[in-house]
Amino acid sequence: MTALLEVEDLRVAYGKIEAVKGISFSVEAGEVVTLIGTNGAGKTTTLRTLSGLLKPVGGQIKFEGKSLRKTPAHKIVSLGLAHSPEGRHIFPRMTIEENLLLGAFLRKDTAGINKDVQRAYDLFPILGERRKQAAGTLSGGEQQMLAMGRALMSQPKLLMLDEPSMGLSPIMMQKIMATIAELKAQGTTILLVEQNAQAALALADHGHVMEIGKVVLSGSGRDLLHDESVRKAYLGED
Ligand code: ATP
Repeated sequence: MTALLEVEDLRVAYGKIEAVKGISFSVEAGEVVTLIGTNGAGKTTTLRTLSGLLKPVGGQIKFEGKSLRKTPAHKIVSLGLAHSPEGRHIFPRMTIEENLLLGAFLRKDTAGINKDVQRAYDLFPILGERRKQAAGTLSGGEQQMLAMGRALMSQPKLLMLDEPSMGLSPIMMQKIMATIAELKAQGTTILLVEQNAQAALALADHGHVMEIGKVVLSGSGRDLLHDESVRKAYLGED
């Protein structure tokens, strides 16, 4: 069986600086896969490259068996890859509902779109309660929910989440992680980038530890969670 996403020896550079130095991993349909690692390891660069926002200098990206190397970003969305970016990038003056609808910009099935707006409100009731309010009035955690809801509006085959827990209170972080677990239970395939290694590994099927542009360790979420070097480096244990 071919994986939904296959990344092979991927290399990405900013000018002369190579930020991703030949990484390989894959994501099977229905799985949650996480990339963990410290600041600057190359996680965001990897997601931005998979979305087509950066072009690789080497390696291969295959989605459903087809190469994405030359595919422009808007086409990648229409193939079924959605990205909820680091820092959220919501439109603060537009309403919550308008922000959600932006995620459906490539769709024409009004009935299906309305159904998915409702699904986002079921997943995140606060968004439904405040649907007509400017998105800029939401708290950081609520904006994160909106960014995830918006990414889901394109009905992605693969949902990529970049640091959804960043800057959130512990309670809000737990809510976001519980929602990711719920999406997984509903069958959504997710590639999750997180600095909160504990939370990410606890719900991931597979994890890859990145350090300065390379994958230094891979395994099941459970194995990595119990790995001594991971515990020391990322879970704050001596
Ligand atoms: P973080 O959690 O801080 O986002 P990360 O693992 O996502 O970390 P990246 O943001 O992918 O890491 O950064 C990887 C490397 O590329 C870093 O050394 C970073 O300084 C560098 N880098 C990122 N964006 C640019 C850019 N636009 N121009 C030049 N260098 C960049």
